[in-house]
Amino acid sequence: MSLINEHFLLLSNNYLFSEIAKRVNAFKADNPHRKVISLGIGDVTRPLPEASIEAMTRAVREMADTRTFRGYGPEHGYDFLIEAVIRNDYLPRGVKLSPAEVFVSDGAKSDCGNIGDILSTENSIGVTDPVYPVYIDSNVMCGRAGTPTADGWSNVIYMPCTAENAFKPQIPNRHIDLLYLCYPNNPMGVVLSKEELKQWVDYALANDSIILFDAAYEAYIQDPAIPHSIYEIPGAKKCAIEFRSFSKTAGFTGVRCGYTIVPEELTAATKSGERISLNRLWNRRQCTKFNGTSYITQRGAEAIYTPEGKAQVKQTISYYMDNARLMREGFAKLGIEAHGGENAPYIWLKTPQGLSSWQFFDKLLTTANIVTTPGVGFGPSGEGYVRLTAFGRKEDCREAMERMCSVG
Ligand SMILES: *Cc1c(COP(=O)(O)O)cnc(C)c1O
Repeated sequence: MSLINEHFLLLSNNYLFSEIAKRVNAFKADNPHRKVISLGIGDVTRPLPEASIEAMTRAVREMADTRTFRGYGPEHGYDFLIEAVIRNDYLPRGVKLSPAEVFVSDGAKSDCGNIGDILSTENSIGVTDPVYPVYIDSNVMCGRAGTPTADGWSNVIYMPCTAENAFKPQIPNRHIDLLYLCYPNNPMGVVLSKEELKQWVDYALANDSIILFDAAYEAYIQDPAIPHSIYEIPGAKKCAIEFRSFSKTAGFTGVRCGYTIVPEELTAATKSGERISLNRLWNRRQCTKFNGTSYITQRGAEAIYTPEGKAQVKQTISYYMDNARLMREGFAKLGIEAHGGENAPYIWLKTPQGLSSWQFFDKLLTTANIVTTPGVGFGPSGEGYVRLTAFGRKEDCREAMERMCSVG
């Protein structure tokens, strides 16, 4: 008899997005002439930077010629991309990395999900509530999350993010082994200052914890004082792994490219107390289970660091952040409490009149024909909020705000 990994049976179906689709489709069927606008899009919509298109086109031509054809590349990525990452994303912020610390991948979701391969399933994990679901579900799949209880998973410590703490988790007063932090945050759109991030690094160093830092949205930071990388904080190389992605930065959600930093200084213990390099383990893991991101894709990613590429990326980010500004101004006028959207493409909207997330979702859908994402779908502390994204078209964003103003 072949047996399954029964941890998978503990996972519930992805209720949130299927329920949204169900309600939106039902509304559209009953109201075929209404134009529904989605402010819930979780994907980018602007095309790739022209610099990437050109670089990828050239790379395809190279593949067409025996003299320049490339087969398997290095598992951890081509030097040209790794060096561009170090030179452009880290050195200007005072962070020195060696090429061996950068692992190019097919995106941050896979790496966030796979990193658990090199860490014991006995570790406890800490997540914010609300949270990006991948952090929890990937731990459920390997058994690290424990068993489901009325208060969530038995081995997961939930750190509530509410209006009282300005949607930023309190430093835990107990030991947690692995901490997932995502800043700029999805879904709440908030960021951490250097001082706030330093408290987490200090906690991790004092507790021998590891921070799994998801910086997928760093390119959206507008305030020059906000850290883009956790390694801007002294000591972070001893306690943090950082995940980055070209998805939200440069429209690579369909192309697939990201990278993960595993510092050489970072270690974790065996049961007998011996310290082992996580860089070594991750390298071994990737060389066995991953065969590299395509050459064409990596040339496309490298191109965002050219002067033209940088300008094009900046323009796209400004487009989205302009949407965010439009929405924030609209809510200010309407007197609806809105958070985020200043250094992130997400706005965390307080439901008015004490409505639940789903009640407000239904109200916006039926009165203004606008689709949002109920905050409660990201965790219990998201109740009473909806998430809006800035990834839509400017015209749609403007029209959505006009409709909201006219329905009140
Ligand atoms: C979109 C997103 C990512 C990036 O995922 P990719 O696999 O690189 O496309 C990572 N983390 C969060 C929180 C995200 O929202």
